[in-house]
Amino acid sequence: MLDTIQLLEQTNFPSIRRGLLNTLQVNLGYLCNQSCVHCHVSASPYRTEMMSRELIDLIPKVLSAQEIKILDLTGGAPEMHQDFRYLVQMARQEGVKVIDRCNLTILSEPGYESLAEFLAIHEVEIVASLPCYSLENVDKQRGKGTFDKSISGLKTLNALGYGVAGSNLTLNLVYNPQGASLPPNQVTLEQDYKRELFENFGIEFNQLFTLANMPIQRFGSVLLSKGQFHPYMQLLKDSFSSDNLAGVMCLNTVSVDWLGNLYDCDFNQQLSMAISDPHIKHLRDLLTRNMDGAAIRVADHCYGCTAGQGSSCGGALTEASKSGLKLTS
Ligand code: SF4
Ligand code: SF4
Repeated sequence: MLDTIQLLEQTNFPSIRRGLLNTLQVNLGYLCNQSCVHCHVSASPYRTEMMSRELIDLIPKVLSAQEIKILDLTGGAPEMHQDFRYLVQMARQEGVKVIDRCNLTILSEPGYESLAEFLAIHEVEIVASLPCYSLENVDKQRGKGTFDKSISGLKTLNALGYGVAGSNLTLNLVYNPQGASLPPNQVTLEQDYKRELFENFGIEFNQLFTLANMPIQRFGSVLLSKGQFHPYMQLLKDSFSSDNLAGVMCLNTVSVDWLGNLYDCDFNQQLSMAISDPHIKHLRDLLTRNMDGAAIRVADHCYGCTAGQGSSCGGALTEASKSGLKLTS
């Protein structure tokens, strides 16, 4: 795989600083039942990296010490971690909202038949990848058979109340482009998704999040091999919108890898760009120190968050709150 980090480090991206921490995003490991082309963590069924039980037990203590309101679980397929359910239960007991970044296909894997019901019982918010509402595009990006399994997963979730009007169970979907282009308008695309999924499959969901592809890891390597890296970077830079700086997720989220190391975001984690503060490097450091006001480590891939309508784990940023933004001189 071709590495893009050397091409990203020299940057003129604006300096930004952290606001109040409200989300702990934890990558439980790289094991996944899929191996998608665009995956920025290069997850697959053959990865063995998994967070230890010792670190899992540290998470509720950090949530409490920092008064963090949201625990955002990623992977790989986070549900494949042996302590996934244990962690969810502990966080919910603390009154913390839990987000599961679910690939949908895991819901129909052998051994995971009770997963959807578990998520519903614990009112876990689901953010699920569905890169298109057509079989052809989804199977091209995520592998043959993925679309049918995803639809089946969505139906299972709807039957439990997820995404259904009047229910408190939230089901949000994620779209990312097939290639080196920016996502279309999130509002318009959400309307298309809602119409197509309901008319063709009777499926409902809450919101669609559109995400830009980051020029790193597997997708970055594909860009390099096709000679599209520099044109794509130029597109991201030409589409820079300073309004989006107020909503980039690193302002109030910290990302944790499976070893407990801290990063300003999941993308920096995959680029091994550790947090700049030498005193806050590991999950355990958050038991005694806080990160408010700390400088965020930026590089050229950050233009992926600020291009056009903006991009974050919660989708487009154009309506994002301006609170928490601190630009350094
Ligand atoms: S489902 Fe998600 S984590 Fe798994 S390979 Fe695909 S993009 Fe990566
Ligand atoms: S890539 Fe990460 S550090 Fe850069 S702006 Fe986006 S969230 Fe912040």
